[in-house]
Amino acid sequence: MDTRFSHIDTWVFDLDNTLYDAEAYIFVEMGKKMNGFVAERLNIPLDEADGVRHGYFRKYGTTLRGLMTEHGVHPDDFLDAIHDIDITRVPPCKITRDHLAALPGRRVVFTNAPNGFAREMTAQLGIDHLFDGIFGIEDADYWPKPHADTYHVFLKKHGIDPARACMFEDMAVNLKPARDLGMTTVWLHGTEKPETVHDHVQHSAPRLPDWLQTHVKLVK
Ligand SMILES: [Mg+2]
Repeated sequence: MDTRFSHIDTWVFDLDNTLYDAEAYIFVEMGKKMNGFVAERLNIPLDEADGVRHGYFRKYGTTLRGLMTEHGVHPDDFLDAIHDIDITRVPPCKITRDHLAALPGRRVVFTNAPNGFAREMTAQLGIDHLFDGIFGIEDADYWPKPHADTYHVFLKKHGIDPARACMFEDMAVNLKPARDLGMTTVWLHGTEKPETVHDHVQHSAPRLPDWLQTHVKLVK
């Protein structure tokens, strides 16, 4: 193990676009379902719903938080509607599975997705048995990352010492509260240029398999 990570005993992973590629299929389907939900609830045309929900995402961190705050939507109504997707089309990644298994220490999922979806998706990816816990949006009382209180609740619930935890995320903004609490941070920047990095990003890689292959030795 790279010595910069040798003090880590808990590995914290975001789900969407961290443990798997959500852009290819899941976010496309979820986007359609969100637009349908927003159009119906707000009684607006479907072609306006897309802009409205993106506005909520920017202002509140999730479309859900915007709908709850501005329209009193019950979170489970929304979450059930948008996660009604056939996830069996998401391909498992052998590199991720094998290298996660070889990562020394505890592994935990920390996601803005609901617990049920995170459980089903990690099972679909063949990695559910590798995690000691999942912290989903319900556990945070529907306050998404990067809401600072959510990180405190997360650490407490799973008994994690932030000084010995490393967090992986595709959204750099979600690493700021983690770094403020003393966690080691890895930004999975995808096709974004890593030069656009901020102080709270300590390490980076294009995608999780890239980081894992560089830092985790498989036992042959
Ligand atoms: Mg993500």
